Amino acid sequence: MKTEIIAVGSELLTPDFRDTNSLFLTAGLNGIGIGVSFKTVVGDGERDLARALRTAMGRSRLVLCMGGLGPTEDDRTRETLAKVLGRKLVFREAIRRRIRDRFRRRGLAMSPSNLKQCYVIEGSEVLDNPNGTAPGLWLETGRHRIALLPGPPREIRPMFERQVLPRLASGRPGATTLRRVLRLTGLGESAMESRIRAFYRAVPPEVTVTTLAAPGDLSVRLSLAAPGDRAGAEAALDGLEADLVEALGPWIYSRDGRSLEEVVGGLLAGSGRTIACAESCTGGLIAHRLTDVPGSSSYFLESAVVYGNAAKTKRLGVPPALIERHGAVSAAVARAMALGIRRTSGADLGLAVTGIAGPGGGTPRKPVGLVYIALAGLRGVAVRRNLFFGGRADVKFQSSQRALDMVRKSLSRRPGKAL
Ligand code: ATP
Ligand code: MG
Repeated sequence: MKTEIIAVGSELLTPDFRDTNSLFLTAGLNGIGIGVSFKTVVGDGERDLARALRTAMGRSRLVLCMGGLGPTEDDRTRETLAKVLGRKLVFREAIRRRIRDRFRRRGLAMSPSNLKQCYVIEGSEVLDNPNGTAPGLWLETGRHRIALLPGPPREIRPMFERQVLPRLASGRPGATTLRRVLRLTGLGESAMESRIRAFYRAVPPEVTVTTLAAPGDLSVRLSLAAPGDRAGAEAALDGLEADLVEALGPWIYSRDGRSLEEVVGGLLAGSGRTIACAESCTGGLIAHRLTDVPGSSSYFLESAVVYGNAAKTKRLGVPPALIERHGAVSAAVARAMALGIRRTSGADLGLAVTGIAGPGGGTPRKPVGLVYIALAGLRGVAVRRNLFFGGRADVKFQSSQRALDMVRKSLSRRPGKAL
């Protein structure tokens, strides 16, 4: 049974928007052992949409279509599918009342344009939308199962998880895809590949290995679809994972899908230590990432964005003479920044970054991508010199990644040796 996802929306065909919904739809489908064979992105135009729907129905038995259920003129998915199926749209008073009440709760009147959301395709079931006005639709014809889902992520997610997945999972007991994800930082893609070359030879054919590499962040994923013997499959994956940990241990920061900031947050919370940052070229990115983690207020005190030289002096007490002698991008200044933020914030750990993010500003001795990172703790300061490749955003991200990883490593050491 082939499965297809259709993302509807002209904005998804511009450089500004990405179809991210299909990723979690795929994750959910894989989780119950359903693989995706096709994905289509199509604009709002009715003819293109009709063609995409016909094509999907010609080659797939399960079609998940999202977007274009809104109240505006250009939202035509419901109407177009009705035409393609040759079915009528029927008015449902219950939907009208629900939408009206939703507006009332906010003290608003229902707009006439929402009336079109009260029509459903004949013979379909309505999927409630607790987070929006657009109801979803579920349709079973003799040959196809089709879901129409809203586009906004906060609407489609709960609808898919609570109303679509259970419909698909019924009658498929135990069918699932087992997965392992190892996330790494601190080594390049080719270095990783050469370390796991021998590992690939040990991988049985039913296990899929995929590696993903972005500057500063890598992952290795193992997956095994619909295993007959679940316990045996889990054991096989455990064995393969252990081989990977053996080959890549020091660079692995998570084995449960968590981001580096989540891992670092967990270590800080667990150790009872607090942290403060002094950020030059990362411009607050480290603080942003740390504060993305719920509960970060228990360990993250502050981050000073000390971009200019005067700020480094005024805010952190870095001596002007030190900046003059070594330059703002230097081990000595990184060290003084880390000590300065640690002292002035009262945090247990002071983390500092100073570097050249580019594209301009580099010299032969101090090229673009040169970044010094310092971590000050109770037992002293560690400073690392790094040379990152890529554009400005890549250098900033890699700097934040390496800085967080320094904290991770420091807190994962044997207790007596942590900074
Ligand atoms: P609305 O009532 O908001 O119009 P809708 O069902 O018509 O709902 P769309 O108009 O297609 O949905 O999309 C609304 C917003 O949802 C888009 O602007 C976009 O930000 C987001 N969105 C739509 N499709 C996707 C997608 N495939 N991946 C990620 N985000 C999406
Ligand atoms: Mg819309």
